[in-house]
Amino acid sequence: MAFHPTTLLEPHTPPALTTEPHVIVRGERLTVWDREGRSYLDATSGMLCTNLGYSQPRLVRAAERQMARLPFFASFAHRTADVALALADDLARLAPLPMGRTFFANSGAEANDSAFKLAWYYHRCLGRYGRSTVISQERGYHGTTVAAGSATGLDFVHRGFGLPLPSFVTVACPDPHGPLREGLSEDRFVDRLVGRLERLIEHEGPDTVAAFIAEPILGAGGLIIPPPGYYPRVQEVLARHDILFVVDEVVTGFGRTGSMFATTEFGLAPDLITLAKGLSSAYAPISAVMVGQRVMDTIADRSPDVGAFGHGFTYSGHPVAAAVAREALAIVVEEDVPGHVRETAPTLMTALADAFGGEACVRDVRGYGFLAAVTFVTGAGGLPEGEWGARVMSEAVEHGLLVRAVGDTVIVAPPLVSTGEEIRTMVGLLEKAYRAALAGIRP
Ligand code: PLP
Repeated sequence: MAFHPTTLLEPHTPPALTTEPHVIVRGERLTVWDREGRSYLDATSGMLCTNLGYSQPRLVRAAERQMARLPFFASFAHRTADVALALADDLARLAPLPMGRTFFANSGAEANDSAFKLAWYYHRCLGRYGRSTVISQERGYHGTTVAAGSATGLDFVHRGFGLPLPSFVTVACPDPHGPLREGLSEDRFVDRLVGRLERLIEHEGPDTVAAFIAEPILGAGGLIIPPPGYYPRVQEVLARHDILFVVDEVVTGFGRTGSMFATTEFGLAPDLITLAKGLSSAYAPISAVMVGQRVMDTIADRSPDVGAFGHGFTYSGHPVAAAVAREALAIVVEEDVPGHVRETAPTLMTALADAFGGEACVRDVRGYGFLAAVTFVTGAGGLPEGEWGARVMSEAVEHGLLVRAVGDTVIVAPPLVSTGEEIRTMVGLLEKAYRAALAGIRP
């Protein structure tokens, strides 16, 4: 069997221009259909975003209604659409901390760019004009625009684009796998990570650092779950230097970890939270930055010579996207989607552990909520680095399943409305795909 075209869709391997894309034409709940009529269970939730599944009738109707009523109005110069304001209120009510203000954008990367500008503006309001540095994590993913891409700690986003920009620096990735296997205790590992962060801040100069951005669980970097003690210790360091904490909940927001926000799940206290993807269940492009009280108060108190916050997009708070997002949030709350994830996540972990746990080619199986991963042993069976993920993903397509590969890791992130039975079916197909990949490399 051939290993294209899915491998070619990975950003690490540029697609040959002659490669035909795999074209999807329809979706319903967890299933999508391609142009040839073949169906696939989508265990990637689109790109970790179609949390409520495809063709959710309430979301479709919300878009139709808003299209007919007020398809567009710009949020600009103290004028905005009622529905954008109502969405901001919904978010303020759901916020894990007092966060009464929201800035809307259209993608995760734009939300993160906006958060950086808010952080820079916050320091400017305090007269700290030298605070420009943003710290992020190696293997963290925050998007691909010039600023968000600079914060993304993955080389393929930088190479050839002159990134990262000079004011962006990275700190060590909180991946516990290697260090803990080498016998380091979790506490010592956290000490080591925090020590590195402190040294980096000292090296840069504490009065030059504006913000630290992180995902509660690193997704696109290969599903890395930091040890529980890590973020509380990071927060202490940030608080000591008045460095703003930006939590990127683009993936984790709205239930994926089993709480409405991972901020609550992990007891974090961010100054800014960025959201996208699940905000509208991906039915319309919309993202947001929720702004904490300290930042809002400082901005509100600014002296006139600081100048306006010169930022915004034509489509900030787009009415149709806002109406869809309001309906998506209503469904998440009414159906207690986070509760369902919390209850069903053990089924996902047990199914993956049963299928892959004892396999010699498997390094580990891990997960949190509806975010799970199987990492294969690099080089097992003589395959080059990264090939395991590509082969299993490719075989999965042949078996009617969509998963995502990051190097030798396969990520399984079912839509948040998936039942336990549907999850077992997905994992069953993934196991078949793995067995087929294994058979393909055995002489
Ligand atoms: N932040 C995280 C954690 C993400 O996973 C992503 C996208 O996958 C982004 C930001 C960027 O979002 P977008 O692709 O909408 O710009």
